[in-house]
Amino acid sequence: SNITFTMIKPDAVRAGNIGAILQQITDAGFAIKAMKFTQLSMDEAKKFYEVHAGRPFYGELVEFMSSGPIVAAVLEKENAVADFRELIGNTNPADAKIGTIRQKYANSVGENAVHGSDSDENALIEANFHFSGRDFF
Ligand code: ATP
Repeated sequence: SNITFTMIKPDAVRAGNIGAILQQITDAGFAIKAMKFTQLSMDEAKKFYEVHAGRPFYGELVEFMSSGPIVAAVLEKENAVADFRELIGNTNPADAKIGTIRQKYANSVGENAVHGSDSDENALIEANFHFSGRDFF
């Protein structure tokens, strides 16, 4: 598929990095198919990250992701999922390659500036969580 889903997380929004991050994303060849400025409730964050429900950081993650506004977007590019994960870098910014979005803008493994879908299947599920199909087809 040519679609991935991203969120600019509350830490990056609070730091004033929406513009710089979107610029880097579009400079890398991704087209924005749908986008909105929004905020997740605790229940919505729980649901979005349900796959991580058993992990020790789940509570912290849900708390953080609902702590302030985010930007949610559907992105299109050939090989979108893999190329976007390359662009954002390792989950832990300390291990992210120089020039990646997380290396530049993330503070920690938890507050790591951006989300990127990890599979084509999840990209569609996540896009549909925030948007209706008619927003991005
Ligand atoms: P994402 O799904 O957000 O793109 P990822 O695939 O790089 O991130 P996952 O292992 O799926 O990383 O974890 C999902 C999110 O949970 C991370 O982006 C991060 O915000 C949070 N997280 C992961 N590991 C930790 C941890 N050890 N402590 C706190 N938060 C964590």
